[in-house]
Amino acid sequence: MGSPVEEKLTALKRYFGYDAFRPGQEAVVDALLSGRDALAVMPTGAGKSLCYQLPALLLPGTALVVSPLVSLMRDQVTALCQAGIPAAYLNSTLTEGQFHRALENAKRGQYRIIYVAPERLLTPRFLDFAQAASLSLLAVDEAHCVSQWGQDFRPSYLDIPAFVDRLPRRPPVAALTATATPAVRADMEALLGLRDPVESVTGFDRPNLFFQVRRGGQKLPAALEFIQARPAESGIVYCAARRTVEEVCAALQAAGVPATRYHAGLSPQERQANQEDFTFDRRPVMVATNAFGMGIDKSNVRYVLHYNMPKDLESYYQEAGRAGRDGAPAQCLLLYSPQDTRTARFLIEQDRENEDLDPETLERVRERDYLRLQQMEGYCRTQGCLRAYLLSYFGETPPERCGSCGNCLRSGVELDITEDAQKILSCVKRTGERFGESTLLRVLRGKTNDMIEKWHLDRQSTFGILRDQKEADLKERFRALLDQECLVQSPGKFPTLALGPRAAGVLFHGEKVTLWTEVPAASHPRQAAKAGSEAPAEADEGLFQRLRALRTVLARERGVPAYVVFSDASLRDMAARRPRTREEFLEVSGVGEKKLEQFGQAFLDEIAAWEQREER
Ligand code: ADP
Ligand code: ZN
Repeated sequence: MGSPVEEKLTALKRYFGYDAFRPGQEAVVDALLSGRDALAVMPTGAGKSLCYQLPALLLPGTALVVSPLVSLMRDQVTALCQAGIPAAYLNSTLTEGQFHRALENAKRGQYRIIYVAPERLLTPRFLDFAQAASLSLLAVDEAHCVSQWGQDFRPSYLDIPAFVDRLPRRPPVAALTATATPAVRADMEALLGLRDPVESVTGFDRPNLFFQVRRGGQKLPAALEFIQARPAESGIVYCAARRTVEEVCAALQAAGVPATRYHAGLSPQERQANQEDFTFDRRPVMVATNAFGMGIDKSNVRYVLHYNMPKDLESYYQEAGRAGRDGAPAQCLLLYSPQDTRTARFLIEQDRENEDLDPETLERVRERDYLRLQQMEGYCRTQGCLRAYLLSYFGETPPERCGSCGNCLRSGVELDITEDAQKILSCVKRTGERFGESTLLRVLRGKTNDMIEKWHLDRQSTFGILRDQKEADLKERFRALLDQECLVQSPGKFPTLALGPRAAGVLFHGEKVTLWTEVPAASHPRQAAKAGSEAPAEADEGLFQRLRALRTVLARERGVPAYVVFSDASLRDMAARRPRTREEFLEVSGVGEKKLEQFGQAFLDEIAAWEQREER
């Protein structure tokens, strides 16, 4: 055996196939190895699991992991077993017989890692086991669930300190989360009873994510176009309402996209079946409400498309962050319309979750919700760098421009359209705010029809004041006025336009209205190079697709999700390196001894076959 540092690195390679730690990981690993508590705040995809899994391998005894989600436990345990690490979970999905057997094995010390639901901790049978076992560490995953200020408060997390107190020997405790706000962090430290923890807080930037917002325009065609441009890829489409989930999912299926759906209105059986279809890539596109998510451990999600704006940036970053957990390039697109803001305001008004709060606190909570909503809306409307906006929100001081988001890469010009805007708004006002866009367009351009004659609109002073404008350009201006809330549209089949909240400022106080005429950003992210992993060369793409197909076959044979065999990032690395020997295969990121043994030959053969074909 080498020094502790060597041992760490050897185990990192042998079991997980990685050559180096990611930022923040090593500090937590070291803390646990030396018996200290740790608090890790790292964004989704940063690699929190490894922080406790590696010490669990190196320390004697069994590690306990408290985790809030059944689906997460199963996937993690499957992945660990594939990597040659004996692990199990104890939760309500097990039958009495299975539970009994798992507990017996656990008592014999057969597992290195046991995942357990927080509700189990204080049950007599589990306590019996835990008090007799030799526990190497206790990891609390999604630790923000202990805080009422977080979004996912789980009362049984409050039992954790009581559980620890009843152990004959207190193991080091690690709390891990992706939620950063200071209030939640303080709660975690206090309510979980951490003792002088080593804190590891990493930056929130996810360089492999490409952020983009689209304002205005029809959403369904935009979503379809985006998804159909990525036919073989896995993605999540988040919608604000169940009804929208149904509509979007049906439209995608009608267009031949292998989509499935998830929301709280479906039966538990259907939810589970659909989630599995998604996890196993039988239906790689998931259309869902925010009920779908926490605990989705699928690392090869290549895009997260928000069909509606979420209620705050915490939710957005968490949901969007489910893309690209494997570190390979991924897209986060948000389709924004002003209606999203109105829906979100309505939901805050209607929120009954905090009903038992006293009126004063309730008022404070509402105010906080409105403020968060405003900041979310700011993200949708900003012309500046999207990444910078997000990171500043989370308390960092990022460079002003990242050079690799939708706004930074957008080429276009910002036109001052204040004068046209004033003409359009006066036309809307003088015609009585009771006509729709097409009639108003005709009036502005000085064209008549029956309706215009009937209502004498051709005698209005604004008749024909924009007669030189092309129809398409005028439409674009209407769109900008709607987006910037100078105009609002009535609901219904024949929507009419009226002045919006910002109209007075533009008409009477000289407030500016601008219009971006965009050339859309390149749809292929360029940030891969920036992230340090070289962008895939054209020639590797074909091989990558072959390796992916092989992965699907191997995963199906074993009944495990594809990413449990290898992540997309591993396959990309494999396609770029093209290993020929077992030694070379071991160099591939994500390949450890167990993976080499199980899958090495199959992939080596596939690569060799590919190279032969290329030579011909
Ligand atoms: P989190 O729980 O923080 O969201 P995970 O623990 O699921 O993230 O890890 C995300 C991905 O990163 C996984 O595919 C994991 O295998 C990979 N990963 C973790 N640590 C490393 C590392 N040191 N080097 C490369 N990849 C890693
Ligand atoms: Zn940017």
